[in-house]
Amino acid sequence: MNEAQTESNELGKANKRRMISSNCWWGAIGESGAVKMCNQVFNRFHITPEGYFSICGAQRENLLVAADVNKLSLLEAWTCEIAKEVRKYFIDKYLPVNIQCYNCQHNANIQAAPLCDWAVEKEC
Ligand code: SF4
Repeated sequence: MNEAQTESNELGKANKRRMISSNCWWGAIGESGAVKMCNQVFNRFHITPEGYFSICGAQRENLLVAADVNKLSLLEAWTCEIAKEVRKYFIDKYLPVNIQCYNCQHNANIQAAPLCDWAVEKEC
């Protein structure tokens, strides 16, 4: 293999690594396909521009919004039932296929459902 081929091969490997991790900030994909713990849901508090509490900073289209901080205290948002349910998914190592985290963990691209319908219905 010549120098150009070696360089191209290395670039291809780097791009493949980027593609594999592109769905997840934390590279949470398990080699066995098992759900790995994600610290985003346990020790991060993300606020969207609308003032919503999202369980992940890598969420898109408000799919991982769990509460509205315009209406709830930070503590109420953090301890809301939806956030607790998502944390339980990780503790139980079971993710429903329709949550964005499933795509993140399995490098999939399945249309995810929002945790809260109201968060995706409003125009920004
Ligand atoms: S999408 Fe889910 S699994 Fe991926 S980084 Fe965010 S909280 Fe973690």
